[in-house]
Amino acid sequence: MNTPPAPAVSQLHPDGRLRHLLTLDGLPAATLGALLDAAQAYGAGAQSGSALRARLAGRTVCTLFFEPSTRTRSSFQLAATRLGADTLAFDVSASSTSKGETALDTMRTLEAMGVDCFVIRHADNGAVAALAAGARPATAFINAGDGRSAHPTQGLLDMLTIRGHKGADFSKLRVAIVGDIRHSRVARSDIHALRALGAREIRLCAPPTLLPEPDDRAGCIVAPTLQDALAGVDVVMTLRLQRERMQEGLVPSLAAYLAEYGLDGDKLRLAAPDAIVMHPGPLNRGVEITDEVADGPQSVILEQVGNGVALRMAVLEAVLAR
Ligand code: ASP
Repeated sequence: MNTPPAPAVSQLHPDGRLRHLLTLDGLPAATLGALLDAAQAYGAGAQSGSALRARLAGRTVCTLFFEPSTRTRSSFQLAATRLGADTLAFDVSASSTSKGETALDTMRTLEAMGVDCFVIRHADNGAVAALAAGARPATAFINAGDGRSAHPTQGLLDMLTIRGHKGADFSKLRVAIVGDIRHSRVARSDIHALRALGAREIRLCAPPTLLPEPDDRAGCIVAPTLQDALAGVDVVMTLRLQRERMQEGLVPSLAAYLAEYGLDGDKLRLAAPDAIVMHPGPLNRGVEITDEVADGPQSVILEQVGNGVALRMAVLEAVLAR
């Protein structure tokens, strides 16, 4: 399935401020830049204590996750708490969803309790935009990952991490995105952000069965081998093999996948000597990445996680600004 068309609800207020964050597709570079600047300031600890907690005091943020999460859900909760919001971590598995309540009815029920902002993850492409379309106009929605379509805050925290190492000018950057791109909402959001921020080259590398549809790879170079993809790049983004989204066996064996597409120390030596290695997590160690690389000096995987909190503070503040 292709990435769904742009959501019917607009992500921007008429004056250009962010109303929802559903996808990075089509967001102006200036909007991305402003979010990254704000996140950078939060990350640097520009504000602390009561001033920070006053920013979202009296607002209520609900995390509503219909798919599992470790990093995204926890970091949104921390981000909202640090800004002084009331938080509701709704437990879908222990809720009336198991009695057949629809996602729309669940959202409207929580909205009636005074939720100002929903952070939602769902297995279906376009599900978060559909929920936003069914909500009150003042309620904000942040997409925490919908199907294979988009994961905008991961895309932004990845850009924040790249900025931290390579600077804000992306025009000389060569980036390789490697692995299960077809099923990856992270890759789609990264590609949208890298294109908007003017990256020099975006190289994609995957087995033919795991390459994205042509629309999703516009402006990218498809590298025939991992060695071609890695030659001289500044950033290597590795991706999890998403077996839960594969109906049929799309890779012959995990060992063959590691040999051809897994990132190990030898292959990484083809990249620029100061290249950084990223992965959105969770890792399949020994499948798409070896321990040596995941825990090695070029890995910024835990930095990505840390940046996620600051970035999500910036996004929450932007959509909840009065
Ligand atoms: N955590 C990311 C996501 O939810 C990446 C992954 O699951 O592989 O999309």
